[in-house]
Amino acid sequence: MNKIIYVDNAATTPVAKPVLDAMTPYFCEEYGNPSSMFYSVGASAGQALADAREKAAKALGCDASELFFTSCGSEADNWAIKGTARKLGEKGKKHLITSCIEHHAVLHSMKALEREGFEVTYLPVDADGFVSPADVEAAIRPDTALVTIMFANNEIGTIEPIAEIGEICRKHKVWFHTDAVQAVGAVPINCHELPVDMLSLSAHKFNGPKGVGALYIRRGVLPFNFLDGGAQERNRRAGTENLAGIVGLATALEIAVNSMEEKRRHISAMRDFVLQHVQSMPQVKINGPLDLSRRLPNNLNVSFTAAEGESLLLMLDMRGICASSGSACASGSLDPSHVLLSIGLPHEIAHCSLRFSFGVQNTMEDAQAICDALDAIVPVVRERSPLWHEN
Ligand code: PLP
Repeated sequence: MNKIIYVDNAATTPVAKPVLDAMTPYFCEEYGNPSSMFYSVGASAGQALADAREKAAKALGCDASELFFTSCGSEADNWAIKGTARKLGEKGKKHLITSCIEHHAVLHSMKALEREGFEVTYLPVDADGFVSPADVEAAIRPDTALVTIMFANNEIGTIEPIAEIGEICRKHKVWFHTDAVQAVGAVPINCHELPVDMLSLSAHKFNGPKGVGALYIRRGVLPFNFLDGGAQERNRRAGTENLAGIVGLATALEIAVNSMEEKRRHISAMRDFVLQHVQSMPQVKINGPLDLSRRLPNNLNVSFTAAEGESLLLMLDMRGICASSGSACASGSLDPSHVLLSIGLPHEIAHCSLRFSFGVQNTMEDAQAICDALDAIVPVVRERSPLWHEN
């Protein structure tokens, strides 16, 4: 069995050992319900929850009272979008603005709202995946309830001009949400310094556990609740808190933020090494910005003409390399990714795309192994492809 080289860290990341250690007591020892404040087991769980919220808020540059824990990044996106639309929709604001390259947590929330009578503007992006702030401004109408634009794209790594877009929303007094699931822990973010009203994040993208996320909601911004029930999260998100997960999120976030510079250097060095190698191969196209200062440090997305992505993935897997392709195969379909189509790739090129997303656990040897594997397998897959011979 080959050593596993996991370079799909945009899909998820391994839990860091100190994170697991911080979480462990909250399963069998400190098992109290944080809402059970009248006995010590519950009170200490409540204190652990408050401490985790403080820690996470500090790492994000916001107040603890502005941070709400959720079950995942998708829930945070659903809450921000549907909670805002339904609240402001009651006042006649039934228009929403987003981009066509958002994660499905955003796009499918929009589709659900269209079925409820909302109108949605899906902004295009340029060939590198950038949303134009001028397009955002031009799309805002008197009945616009919300603008939601992702902080950084999960497939091609494009970092959107969030501060500029946020200023425009502020000028027009429109609430602004950003899906920062791929950005938190990877790029510096300070919620109070940014003109954002709501920001979503998810622990499993920065070496925290799966099944826990958070939504930052600026003080004074009051979307409707998304999950109704008990009084948890100061009456704004029902459900007994996933305390171990929340402690894990806060610990992972603190580590990610404190070690960000070092981590960025390590991760981008491996990405740049593979990028350079790939650029020396024939008939490839790098997807996403080549200005690396505007791209997530871990992301490399590349199309290899006439080499089908799924075949490449299977052959990489035989060498122990776990990456991801340019189709939505995780959702059971082989349709090309909406992101790659939105940046103007034809279907046949989008189908020939791979995404490598590096993580803290990877090494330069892994990067070299990826280059060697690509050199070996791309010509083999191309040789079998009729498209290559027509090319
Ligand atoms: N938004 C983006 C940009 C993502 O990449 C993901 C997950 O891949 C999500 C939202 C959903 O996060 P979660 O898996 O925590 O629901």
